[in-house]
Amino acid sequence: MMIVNYMTKYIFVTGGVVSSVGKGITTAALGRLLKARSIPVVIQKLDPYLNVDPGTMSPYQHGEVFVTNDGAETDLDLGHYERFLDQDLTQASSVTSGQIYQAVIAKERRGVYLGRTIQSIPHVTNEIKERIRAVGRESDASVVIVEAGGTVGDIEGQPFLEAIRQMRKEEGRDDTLAIHVTLLPYMATTGELKTKPTQHSVRELRSMGIQPDVIMCRSDDQMPDDLRDKISLFCDVEKRAVVPLPTMSTIYEVPLALEQAGLTAYIMERLHLPGVSRDLADWQKWVARLKSPRGRVSVAVVGKYAELPDAYLSVKESLIHAAVHYGLGVDIRWVPSGKLEEGGGEAALEGVHGIVVPGGFGERAIEGMVRAARYARQEGVPYLGLCLGLQIMVIEFARHVFQSDDPHSTEFCPSTSYPVISLLSEQEGIEDKGGTMRLGGYPCHLVDGSKTYAAYGQPEVVERHRHRYEFNNAYREALAEAGLIPSGLSPDGTLVEICELRDHPWMVGSQFHAEFRSRPNRPHPLFQGFLEAAARKAGQLPAPAAAIEEASPRL
Ligand code: GLN
Repeated sequence: MMIVNYMTKYIFVTGGVVSSVGKGITTAALGRLLKARSIPVVIQKLDPYLNVDPGTMSPYQHGEVFVTNDGAETDLDLGHYERFLDQDLTQASSVTSGQIYQAVIAKERRGVYLGRTIQSIPHVTNEIKERIRAVGRESDASVVIVEAGGTVGDIEGQPFLEAIRQMRKEEGRDDTLAIHVTLLPYMATTGELKTKPTQHSVRELRSMGIQPDVIMCRSDDQMPDDLRDKISLFCDVEKRAVVPLPTMSTIYEVPLALEQAGLTAYIMERLHLPGVSRDLADWQKWVARLKSPRGRVSVAVVGKYAELPDAYLSVKESLIHAAVHYGLGVDIRWVPSGKLEEGGGEAALEGVHGIVVPGGFGERAIEGMVRAARYARQEGVPYLGLCLGLQIMVIEFARHVFQSDDPHSTEFCPSTSYPVISLLSEQEGIEDKGGTMRLGGYPCHLVDGSKTYAAYGQPEVVERHRHRYEFNNAYREALAEAGLIPSGLSPDGTLVEICELRDHPWMVGSQFHAEFRSRPNRPHPLFQGFLEAAARKAGQLPAPAAAIEEASPRL
């Protein structure tokens, strides 16, 4: 792809009316569209909450914690960005109010501010602007897209909006663009979409000194043209910059819809970006495959938070990527592991072609996951364990081999007589909870002759971690002899990173989070291997060779 460089330009994306209007996906889609025109982009998320990062937050509060290769625990929107851009991001792409205040206060303690009073403006806003500019510098991007989390009007978000206002002034109108994403609610009584909340939201944004250049209107229905006129008039934006964002059958369609609505062309014009012809054919082809599967497989995801699928967002997307590779659709059955602890709970797994046990922390509902692993092993159902899912697989197998219910992880049962999963030695003595796990990319050597090696097709990979506990080497030999093969190891051989079951179609667990590296056009090898086994179980493979052949366009 030809890459062209310009002075850095900035696109700011804010949200109005309500949260969850799809701002993150819209931002990711916009990045994809610019990249498809050979413009180097980077995306940054500004999160207004006071936590330093979401690493210590409950999934109920926050959904999935996404981990970058350089070890940052971030918002799940970073996952959308990476998947849509097909580009690794760094910790510079994830900024929270907590980080900003922490940095400002640390500088104050060091005496950097030379006795001055520390204020929101300019000290906090300067720190924010510096982070925005830094991500552009560090990534060599021509366009930095900044998504401000939350909704306009939130108290916590105000310093971010003020920093954006200042940047618009400092960088100039030709080099910055403000996009406001809102919701048009539907009134069933009158059968119409309403624009008033959007008008109010734009007024609120203007009161912070930011006049939007583009308004994107999310709605469940198609947006009538006269509403575009109305919003254009009341909110003072060109009509062609009022962009409808109807709910789509898949998030991967959003870039195509925005392109068609003329958004990229408008942005290129407003930011004076040299026109380079677009290249979206592969994306289009991929979405077409996603929308017309030639068959379906059913996969259960068994986790503590399964009733909240946002907690396992990257797992869901990775399963979709792998299924599309085989020209298939995937029906995900979300099974809260607590449900499996009830009598006859295994019924929840009946008929599935594969089982995934994703990551997690804490003791609650662990036994339900162990039961899912036992069911997979005994019934020959393909299994993929991700982080905690590997540990569960080891615990279950050890209970079987040692004919005892005692094998456990010391995270859940410190007094177990079979500590098959125990604390990483580097974790001993660590008391702070924030940012102290084994985090980010570590190399892993794959063991020749294993199913895992065959899935990857290469001897060494780098995978992303987020855990404190690991496979206890004291049990390596006994379990390997019984059929649990360590198939991926740290380069010095001391840490078991991947395990697979010898006498099973596909029972593989990874100590890392394979789901963070899957991309639409490049499904993660372990997800691909798992999905392939599930498809076989479902009778959907072997497929006509041609169907798989065109499965992974270049994008
Ligand atoms: N709780 C486990 C550990 O800390 C697994 C973590 C995870 O699944 N991310 O090792």
